[in-house]
Amino acid sequence: MKNIILYGAPGSGKGTQCSLIANTFNVHHISTGEIFRKEMHENTPLGIEAKKYIGFGELVPDELTIQMLSGHMSLHKDVKGFLYDGFPRTLAQAHAFDEMMHDLGQSIDILICLDVNDEEVIKRILNRYKTSGRQEDSSEDSILKRLHIYKNETMPVLDHYENKIHVKHIDGLMDVEDVHLAITEELNPIFTESHI
Ligand code: AMP
Repeated sequence: MKNIILYGAPGSGKGTQCSLIANTFNVHHISTGEIFRKEMHENTPLGIEAKKYIGFGELVPDELTIQMLSGHMSLHKDVKGFLYDGFPRTLAQAHAFDEMMHDLGQSIDILICLDVNDEEVIKRILNRYKTSGRQEDSSEDSILKRLHIYKNETMPVLDHYENKIHVKHIDGLMDVEDVHLAITEELNPIFTESHI
């Protein structure tokens, strides 16, 4: 079982790249944001709870997020690998995730970080809002708030993993195809190893 984390600021292109990777390597894409949005759309108890935070650009509490993720993982035990998009987003989530990996006898194969500057993030998210209609994408203020949360709560996750596991930074300003190619080059050896 492969475990790949795609990391980066909101708007760094994680979602787009994850869809491409999931296709290329046949791994199961877990986007915690997407799962929350689906639950909100279906008005489930989890969705109703998550809505209290997501619309305001805040993070959903760790306990709820971790429970949701582990439930989702246990429903897809037979997949070849998981691709985590938007998780772990806090140090508490990273610690819980490390414990889960340990209990499952698994490890994180790689963390790929898409590097994109703030100006580009704001531009991309405002542009995305035209089609996504996501409330938290609607104004520069709410994007800045999410960037602030990213820097304060999510960037420590990168520090946590930087010397522990294989971390690869990729320039997220390149064209979608070039970013995908760079990611593919990193993942190829990981997936080839499993056939040896
Ligand atoms: P995303 O689609 O990854 O940008 O996520 C959309 C929103 O869902 C975020 O702004 C958070 O409010 C919430 N969310 C997604 N993943 C997490 C997570 N791992 N922890 C807490 N909240 C999350």
